[in-house]
Amino acid sequence: MKLEEEEKLPPFYKALKKYARKKAALWSTPGHASGRGMQATAAGRDFYDFYGRNLFLSDLSSSVAETGSILEHEGPAGEAERQAAEVFGAQTTFFVLNGTSTANKIVFFSTVAPNDVVLVDRNCHKSVMHAIIMNEAIPVYLRPKPSSYGLLGPIGMEEMTKEAVRAKITASKWVRNKKAAKVQLAVLTNSTYDGVIYNADKIKALLADQTHFLLFDEAWFAYAAFHPFYDGRYAMSPFQKKRGVHMPAVFATQSTHKMLLAFSQGSMLHFKQGTGKQELDPQGLVEANLMHASTSPFYPLFASLDVSARIMKDRGYELINKALDEAIRFRHVVRLAGERYRKNGTWWFTPWQPPRKRLEKDPLQWKMQPDAKWTGTPVKPEDDLLLDPLKVTLLTPGVREDASMEEEGIPAAVVRKFLESKNIVPEKIGFYNLLFLFAPGVSMDRSRELLEALHSFKTAYDENMPLKEVFPALQKAYPEFYPEQEGLKDLCRRLHTFLKGKQIMKTVSSLYSTLPEQALLPHKAYYGLVEGKTEYVPLAEAAGRVSVFMILPYPPGVPLIMPGERFPQQGGEILSFLQASQELDNLFPGFETEFHGIKKVYANGRTIYMINCLKKIKDISFRMDRHPSAPPEEPPEGEGKTAN
Ligand SMILES: *Cc1c(COP(=O)(O)O)cnc(C)c1O
Repeated sequence: MKLEEEEKLPPFYKALKKYARKKAALWSTPGHASGRGMQATAAGRDFYDFYGRNLFLSDLSSSVAETGSILEHEGPAGEAERQAAEVFGAQTTFFVLNGTSTANKIVFFSTVAPNDVVLVDRNCHKSVMHAIIMNEAIPVYLRPKPSSYGLLGPIGMEEMTKEAVRAKITASKWVRNKKAAKVQLAVLTNSTYDGVIYNADKIKALLADQTHFLLFDEAWFAYAAFHPFYDGRYAMSPFQKKRGVHMPAVFATQSTHKMLLAFSQGSMLHFKQGTGKQELDPQGLVEANLMHASTSPFYPLFASLDVSARIMKDRGYELINKALDEAIRFRHVVRLAGERYRKNGTWWFTPWQPPRKRLEKDPLQWKMQPDAKWTGTPVKPEDDLLLDPLKVTLLTPGVREDASMEEEGIPAAVVRKFLESKNIVPEKIGFYNLLFLFAPGVSMDRSRELLEALHSFKTAYDENMPLKEVFPALQKAYPEFYPEQEGLKDLCRRLHTFLKGKQIMKTVSSLYSTLPEQALLPHKAYYGLVEGKTEYVPLAEAAGRVSVFMILPYPPGVPLIMPGERFPQQGGEILSFLQASQELDNLFPGFETEFHGIKKVYANGRTIYMINCLKKIKDISFRMDRHPSAPPEEPPEGEGKTAN
């Protein structure tokens, strides 16, 4: 690189590179001493050669002065963050080296104290629940709309009105002074996991009077600032100055590594003061960051955030514009293929999108119109939701727009297994849908490959190709479950019939119709674990018990139950869902549902789900001192008090 070009490199990366070149004699950590320590064995030498000399030369101790202090936000490190703030439209930006999982916790630690009320998207990432536990906050939930296709429903505006928020606070048995209580922090996942984008500006204005701070978890949405398609729809969008409307202080947490170009774990926290009176002392953010940061930050990771910001500054628009073009082109090709197949009376994948012949980059065309059937969700005019073209969901046959199930169907788990055998990995699947992300790195070649794989799935399915050939390893591992003569179509039919018998789509779409009783606050449930007051019970005995963990199935990635919530005494969608999953695991090995928060035990050839619940003991007393304003403890489990 020419010297004058070198001078133009982003600040931290430039300083780091310069320093690495000096090959200084470091009498400090890390112990590998610029990689020299790796030479002792074959594995070490291979590791060194695989990653290359420069990685080791730039893996430095924080005692090096030239690169500035990452933890104090000074020197080139601080300059890198200041430049990123400008690029992303923030007042303050921190590079967070443990992902958005930690960025979310930093936001909580700088804004929430014990017994503060937080208003949280029920579809939040688990790190938000972890932060609620760590901060001993009182969560009240924004309930998503039902969604027919098993996608994660968006939150409607009706959940965020003054009256609705008030009602949530009033209904919470944990809030002491209901009249005076105000939401301290509101958290919304923007976009939803399926790519539904909110009108962020509208939400800021709507929530301004009801929350001190507003956090948009934009883990998958860091690119929004770089294309006019997303105007007004992301946390750091410029405040629209309207007379009489003030804005709350707003945070965005973004996994730069997910849809942009940083190394894994590279995340950014952006902040902007509100226009009202309440100001956040930025020193609070610095402190909260220190509480979560390692004192030995990985410099190459920090540099990757610096470079990501610079790339977006220089070519952000072009990159996102190209990704949009490619995603829309791909959707179009899939749709056209569907038209051709349908003429011949045969099936194909349906892109989840407005049913328009030719979709373009016009946001108006991607609106989720009220009463539009394709959305599968009851959208209201004031919701103003947009589908992000970059998040491509393909629906497989089997489910109708009203969540009823067709005679024949193709469960997405089977398609995923097929794609994986071709080395193609979707971001996530639901029971009858697959999500593919069109990140800036996706090329036409990559999407052509995907299309070809989908076509070969169709061929294999239509020909009912024997499982022996399609999934040889699976068939060999479980011959008693997948007989030799069974074909791909037979398997799909068998799995679909099972799911249909369980009415799984109805269950999934009404998971939120009633939220479970909050028997304990999440942190109390957690302290129960710390103090050994919990036990694992089989799923069959979980009714009426209080869950210690958040339980999160993939698919569909919806938190079914939060720590401290009670499984309904009778029936309810949550337990039916779990029972169906447990049965599925036992009937279709290789297609198990993944869970966070459940221990699967194999005994006598069967999988049993074990749920961690609070023990039924009389005097459940917690070591934690009770907050003076906290309501009296709930009577412990099984003390004759019925769920309300
Ligand atoms: C992935 C994700 C996170 C956590 O991000 P990491 O960078 O993986 O720690 C937080 N929120 C949402 C919505 C996510 O999808």
